[in-house]
Amino acid sequence: MSAPAVVSAGGTFATRDAFTGYVRAARARARRRRMRLALVSVPLGLAQLVMIRWLDARTPGPARLWIEGGVFVVYMVLVVGLIWQLVREDAVAAVRCPGCGQRLDDVSTRIALASGHCDSCGAPLFPA
Ligand SMILES: [Zn+2]
Repeated sequence: MSAPAVVSAGGTFATRDAFTGYVRAARARARRRRMRLALVSVPLGLAQLVMIRWLDARTPGPARLWIEGGVFVVYMVLVVGLIWQLVREDAVAAVRCPGCGQRLDDVSTRIALASGHCDSCGAPLFPA
């Protein structure tokens, strides 16, 4: 991800508000990614339960287990893929210190908002 427009050429955010806005936007994007995962995995998981109940009543023998197992494996591959994509997107889109590139997690962000500095390298993130 390229440097956000709110970061000056000197490597700091233009203002505290610019930093706060950037953090809020990053958190909103992270919430949307988690919602996307939930909107895919939960309905498909529930649909799988309905399918199993439907197949149990209509399909005798081992064919039922192969179908249910195959659908479960496809579901798990999809969910693990979405989680992997979520983790990657979170890493790329994380708020980072313009000075050292350290990822600013929730605690680091709070420290930065209170102090104006990166808690890892001490670089100023925005003018006081
Ligand atoms: Zn830093």
